[in-house]
Amino acid sequence: MEKRSEQYHGFLVEKGRIWNIDDFDVIMGESDEKIDLTGYFVLPGFIDSHTHMVEMGLDVKRVDLSDTDSFDEALYYLKKKEEEAEEGDWIIGVGFDETVWKKTSYPTKEELASVSEVHPVIIKRICGHLAVANSEALESIGDGWDFVDRETGLLKEEVVWNLEEIIAVSKEERKEAILDAIEIAHSEGITCVHDIVDREDWEAYCELDEEGALDLRVKCYIHFNESDGLHPTEKSDFLSLNGLKLYADGSIGARSAALNEDYEDDPGNKGMLLLDQNDMTEMIKDAEERDFQLMVHAIGDRAMSTVLDAFEEASEKSKELRHRIEHAEMLWEEYIKRIRDIDLVLSTQPNFAYKWSQPSEMNEKRLGKERLQKCDPFWDIQRALIKMTFGSDNMPMSPLYGIHSAINHPVLGQRISTYNALQSYTMNGAYAARDEKKLGSFEEGKFADFVVLSENPLDADDLRDIEVKMTVVGGKIVYDAREE
Ligand SMILES: [Zn+2]
Repeated sequence: MEKRSEQYHGFLVEKGRIWNIDDFDVIMGESDEKIDLTGYFVLPGFIDSHTHMVEMGLDVKRVDLSDTDSFDEALYYLKKKEEEAEEGDWIIGVGFDETVWKKTSYPTKEELASVSEVHPVIIKRICGHLAVANSEALESIGDGWDFVDRETGLLKEEVVWNLEEIIAVSKEERKEAILDAIEIAHSEGITCVHDIVDREDWEAYCELDEEGALDLRVKCYIHFNESDGLHPTEKSDFLSLNGLKLYADGSIGARSAALNEDYEDDPGNKGMLLLDQNDMTEMIKDAEERDFQLMVHAIGDRAMSTVLDAFEEASEKSKELRHRIEHAEMLWEEYIKRIRDIDLVLSTQPNFAYKWSQPSEMNEKRLGKERLQKCDPFWDIQRALIKMTFGSDNMPMSPLYGIHSAINHPVLGQRISTYNALQSYTMNGAYAARDEKKLGSFEEGKFADFVVLSENPLDADDLRDIEVKMTVVGGKIVYDAREE
């Protein structure tokens, strides 16, 4: 991935690292075991730069509402779960998207009462920024949380991201969820994730690492308000605490991204800024004092300009620490220039653009055609030589789908090449976590983290048809779907 024309035919793996690239005398002569991958294509392992592993692992066992066509259908699955629920169990539905339902308004507390009036019920919107609770669930949510509408049951932002805390998910459950999520990551060819965690997730990771159970490189970014007393830490070759996560605003789907102009489908609403510029400058100073990298969630244009104002005012170490902005969907030309000058990394989600920015899809309803045309400007970002890394945000976790999305961007002028999209899912991810000396490309001495694909993505007609055949982390085969 260092140069476009660079391709090799073999290498030696020893002590978890890559050696002797294309040195066939050594490869054939000295290796104890030879793996013939004729017909396959090997790439550096994918780095997913934006994940929520605990949530993903837990969600697998919850009620999946992502394919429902109506609220009634969602109710059907929730009720089925209710029938088998035991005393004290929560019923949690995940991934609903009311924009594809017949009635496109958010469900209410009363409507969820029909699922259960005994068990607490919560359904989470696909964006992860909005949820609806029944009365029993609302009782478990203390008064300390903002954006809890006790009349309608609507929950927004922080209370939704902290659901695991509210339902008191134990450390053992978190550890199990992480291991389940790692299995999913391996099957997608992912060898490293940049994961957003709370304090208990971080502790769960530390235990797994001490037990030698982490077969994935995990770079953690912990919620800022849970980072008291912490410093950047490299626990092992597999686990490190890299940075702090801040949220400047919400999401377009939940109409909580902070916009300069009203939402097209909700006049009078400009979303909400979750932090003002003063809060942000204080947090930037605090993070830089502790040498923490910052990961700042900013989607709307008002959030973006506030975040950039704060960085311009307070940041002195942005080049060294490589602070990053997550999502950056409403990224206008003037912001691109400022991002380049401050030296920020952009961590974007091509799957968002592909899924929601097609004609007449959700983003067009929310933002209108004119603004939508300028969203997710991947080509402009690349042309400005800003380091852009890709991540899935779990929607779904699939680098090949993400790369397909980037090269088929709904706005023709913003499509990027397959090669550049691959870079954004490999070596740019390494750069974003300051790992480029160890990960992200084939170089002697780097970790033997790679993925074996059924065909070469650079020649493929449709990347969604490519299969992950094998995933290797530190020289260990962690996923193997090769034919006999
Ligand atoms: Zn996220």
